[in-house]
Amino acid sequence: MICEFCGGTTEKRRIKKHHWLKGRLYIVENVEAEVCTQCGERYFSAKTLDAIDQMLTADHEVSERLSVEVVAMR
Ligand SMILES: [Zn+2]
Repeated sequence: MICEFCGGTTEKRRIKKHHWLKGRLYIVENVEAEVCTQCGERYFSAKTLDAIDQMLTADHEVSERLSVEVVAMR
């Protein structure tokens, strides 16, 4: 597909995605995305996003637990 931001072309890749669901943050690895080869913008299909929600809602395996710092720019 064509990137909406820079007009570059995208390619299919497996990437790591931040994903919020019901107020909780998840890091989901191996997510299929279209990634712009010029600016790096990432696009996810509605089908992929639904699949992530379903997987997280159901019983799922947890690879690792992280504690995350939230900071603000001054
Ligand atoms: Zn782009």
